[in-house]
Amino acid sequence: MRCLALDIGGTKIAAAIIEQGIVHQRQQIATPQQNVATEMHLVLDAILHSYKGQFDAVAVASTGIIDKGILTALNPKNLGGLANFPLKESIARYTDKPIGLLNDVQAAVCAEYKEQDQSVIQNFLFITVSTGVGGGIILDGKLTTGPNGISGHIGHSLADPRGPVCGCGRIGCVEAIAAGRAIELVSSQWNPPLTPKQVFDLFHKNHEKATALVQRSASAIANLIADMVIGLNIQKTVIGGSVGLAEGYLSLVKQYLDSMPPIYHCSLETAKYGADAGLIGAAYWLEQSLNQFNKE
Ligand SMILES: [Zn+2]
Repeated sequence: MRCLALDIGGTKIAAAIIEQGIVHQRQQIATPQQNVATEMHLVLDAILHSYKGQFDAVAVASTGIIDKGILTALNPKNLGGLANFPLKESIARYTDKPIGLLNDVQAAVCAEYKEQDQSVIQNFLFITVSTGVGGGIILDGKLTTGPNGISGHIGHSLADPRGPVCGCGRIGCVEAIAAGRAIELVSSQWNPPLTPKQVFDLFHKNHEKATALVQRSASAIANLIADMVIGLNIQKTVIGGSVGLAEGYLSLVKQYLDSMPPIYHCSLETAKYGADAGLIGAAYWLEQSLNQFNKE
């Protein structure tokens, strides 16, 4: 199957034809920032037109939450003019092929799961620790999105009831403690102020304050993984994102997880896919879903 895959982010939109997991004819354009809804319809028209006759289905990975084909978010203000954009309906104006939509981290977990031994690993978790903390969950070999597309937003589970207020409005979310933005919120108050990258550079030199900040993040992620293992019988977790992939981070998470009773343990790995995870994962998921549908 030839799948036209789109990855819609806050600043860029990537598009490509995916065939058997291989990315062809990739293009990337800036996400409209003004007159957003109108411009977005035009951008989608142009993208679909440029691949005309070359695809059998359209798979979309998008920032935010896809609720019944409509784009939203835990904090819809973050989407600006794209809040409540009718993504599925807009694409359907320009093609009569099947359309599947996911959020980008749900797509990424599908890409990572594609690489696993699926006869052994059936309950699988992907966590991205980047500016925010996101997740994607595979249960019994299938992606779970939930009726409103919310499944996987585990960055907004509780890490510390006395912690900082999260962007979602709740107090003490994992994201408010572990994410790059959370690290920056603390290190930007230091004298001199430091960026998250500088914090990691100092962490690698065993600098006390920087190490404590990275440890706080890794410990929150280890506790999150433990909660998911005990709640959902997760067998394996893959970690990605700029913080998650930083040198020494995964081994720190592993150290915290290993310090817990064995029932909370699961295998840990770093993510294999980078920038194309959304494109490849969305295409893989849609192809699997359509095959399943045709069998039934
Ligand atoms: Zn939150």
